[in-house]
Amino acid sequence: MDQQQFDFVVIGGGIFGCYAASYLAKKGAKIALLEKESRLFRKASLVNQARLHSGYHYPRSLATAALSDEHKERFTSEHRQFVHSSFEKYYAIDRFGSFTDPLQFERFCARIHIPFQRVDAHPLFNFNRLEALYLTEEHSFDPVLLSRYYSEMVDNEPLITVFLDVQLNRALPDGDKWHIEFSQSTSLPSSHLHLVTPTVINATYAATNAVNAMFGVDRLALTHELSEIAFVVSREFGDRGLTVMDGPFGSIMPYGLSGLLSLSSVAYTHHKISYEDLPQFDCQIAEDPSCRPNAPGICTDCSRRPVSNAAKMLAQMRQYFSESVQFEHLFSYYTIKSKLKSSYIDDGRPTEISMLRQSPRFYCLFSGKINSIYEVEKIV
Ligand SMILES: Cc1cc2nc3c(=O)[nH]c(=O)nc-3n(C[C@H](O)[C@H](O)[C@H](O)COP(=O)(O)OP(=O)(O)OC[C@H]3O[C@@H](n4cnc5c(N)ncnc54)[C@H](O)[C@@H]3O)c2cc1C
Repeated sequence: MDQQQFDFVVIGGGIFGCYAASYLAKKGAKIALLEKESRLFRKASLVNQARLHSGYHYPRSLATAALSDEHKERFTSEHRQFVHSSFEKYYAIDRFGSFTDPLQFERFCARIHIPFQRVDAHPLFNFNRLEALYLTEEHSFDPVLLSRYYSEMVDNEPLITVFLDVQLNRALPDGDKWHIEFSQSTSLPSSHLHLVTPTVINATYAATNAVNAMFGVDRLALTHELSEIAFVVSREFGDRGLTVMDGPFGSIMPYGLSGLLSLSSVAYTHHKISYEDLPQFDCQIAEDPSCRPNAPGICTDCSRRPVSNAAKMLAQMRQYFSESVQFEHLFSYYTIKSKLKSSYIDDGRPTEISMLRQSPRFYCLFSGKINSIYEVEKIV
């Protein structure tokens, strides 16, 4: 087996792995980017609500709210052509069962200096259910356009070599270097490769613990949810967004510049929950090696994905709208959403980057939100 030497091996070709690879290559480092699937950006970086967080969403986690705002401006200015910033975005509080009341929400927004304007009447909304409605400033990034942009960026960067269809077989430390062996399933005959590097960055999100285990470093305390994002359109609601805070409610908002609205709800988006370190679900079967707890697959493409909950999500969200507002469900995407167990306390979504081994070096990059890609610069 030929050995190839790299300054960094980045594992995981979502937005965090692609950003880390391109950031390091711009600094002159030679990078190998390893991705399990046949294309980059097929999982959480594609299947999400596309909310460019400004902080509104986290009234119980000032830290997450403040971090959202810290990176928002830079993310927007560097991705302007992929950000939808000209739609009306509303936040609302349900009259029943909210963890936040209007006074708390207003104080929270004032504390972190994010704009809000209370709206007392609006023909599109049902004020019998809404205790308070606010016009806010929140934007939406376009995951499909971001996927194209980052895929082209890593493909065209001479210092980055992208390996797709990767199956990691072995990782061993030897002095200050990692020796990583993997195969590429689609190559005929299937090829076996051996990379040598002083530094590994694990950016595999739902597969974080499987990769940590292969490198013999500590696991993170995670939970995993098999999640559905439904895509809908509405002639009456058009290109607007509504998020109902804070508790078992939901959100409907533009999915970037696509013309579609992404629909999700706390009660129905998450079909299955795995409290194990690895994402373990009853739809994973031994006969299908493309998805296992230690190597999860692409849920949207899977014939065993859950039956859509879009009708239930719509029934829940419909209560917040006037009777004249109708929605049509077109299709859904599915993926695994992974969270730090500690997030259950305050619903925060921190991005955690930890150096889990000093020599050879191993960084674990577990992301909370897309606009926190820049966190990698603080450490590496
Ligand atoms: C349902 C949902 C809604 C969300 N909504 C928002 C939102 O509105 N706004 C926001 O900012 N964030 C949101 N997030 C969070 C955000 O999407 C994630 O934080 C971010 O996309 C994670 O990016 P990533 O690159 O770390 O992971 P991913 O995009 O999942 O990429 C990880 C990659 O690693 C690959 N991989 C896994 N195992 C291996 C292996 N062994 N070898 C090689 N490659 C491997 C995978 O195939 C995958 O391509 C949401 C997430 C979900 C799931």
